Amino acid sequence: MKEDFYDILGISKSATAAEIKKAYRKKAIEFHPDKNPGNTEAEEQFKKAAEAYEILSDADKKARYDQYGHQAFENGGAGGGGGFGGMNMDDIFSQFGDIFGGGGFGGGGGGRGPHRVKGSNLRIRVKLTLEEIAEGVEKKIKVKRKKQAKGTTYKTCGTCNGSGQVVRITNTILGRMQTAAPCNVCGGAGQQINQKPAGADAQGLITEEETVSIQIPAGVQDGMQLKVSGKGNEAPGNGISGDLLVAIEELDHDKLQREGDNLHYDLYISICDAVLGASKEIDTVSGKVRIKIEEGVQSGKILRLRGKGIPSLNGYGKGDLLVHVNVWTPKTLNKEQREFFEKMQEDSHFEPSPEKNDKSFFEKVKDMFS
Ligand code: ZN
Repeated sequence: MKEDFYDILGISKSATAAEIKKAYRKKAIEFHPDKNPGNTEAEEQFKKAAEAYEILSDADKKARYDQYGHQAFENGGAGGGGGFGGMNMDDIFSQFGDIFGGGGFGGGGGGRGPHRVKGSNLRIRVKLTLEEIAEGVEKKIKVKRKKQAKGTTYKTCGTCNGSGQVVRITNTILGRMQTAAPCNVCGGAGQQINQKPAGADAQGLITEEETVSIQIPAGVQDGMQLKVSGKGNEAPGNGISGDLLVAIEELDHDKLQREGDNLHYDLYISICDAVLGASKEIDTVSGKVRIKIEEGVQSGKILRLRGKGIPSLNGYGKGDLLVHVNVWTPKTLNKEQREFFEKMQEDSHFEPSPEKNDKSFFEKVKDMFS
């Protein structure tokens, strides 16, 4: 079981942005590799804190984490990867500019090369029917991505000689230390543009439409976000591509209402069908099925079709389809019908006499969710 991000930082769920930052700063200092050389446990803690901070410091990610927990990110790996896209030490160090007010930590980890520039993420929305959500689906979506233009070449930055960093001595909260600031000529990439074709931007990139295949797992929900690693904008030089973030939008279904992994269906039957019993066709996410209505069925009865709901996103089991029986009362009658019902009205056999197992609607609902 993955540790709670709030627990990792030792804060409550109601912590403010400033408190989150402060808590992370404290952990980062405590477990910093420079202060704990060769201590793998400390490095692990350091990474955990960085991962927690990456999510909790981003309002959007924090909201999703608060709502769905780790699942919000772990299931997002359509197209592989998933999770946090494997945060490495470089990503973590890149957070320090924010935390320590510029500069960043260099050197300490040993052997850090130039910063690999990451392309920006792209965001799209995908509308899915309940049927698609029930089965999982592959969507081919046209996306406008920035790509390195053909003919663009890059060369080593002359200012930092490709290291991406300029070393300097500064006073930090950890004391006097050697820090490496990103080279401001190449932005830390260690590379500069050499030549580019007409039409490419200053970084040698052009925008092109590309069809991206997105594997959507069964059981996703409205508002969830999937990540397709590497399908965002490309970065210049030897940088790495950003990600394509796919927001899921669930389309309303004509007949079925979703509630978590369960589905609800309102079935209307005539008084005659209620009295005599009937066979009725109903919609499910996998086509129509016939169900038997017993004679003497009561309005409000709920029939449970096991496994006819939505598969659980975590892969364990499926929800049910709950068919709510509603007896439809005619609003007008002809003379003959009226005479029939008037006659039956006087017949004591039609007096309601609910038995113990004819539970009221509210009791049934209570049972269903208890
Ligand atoms: Zn440079």
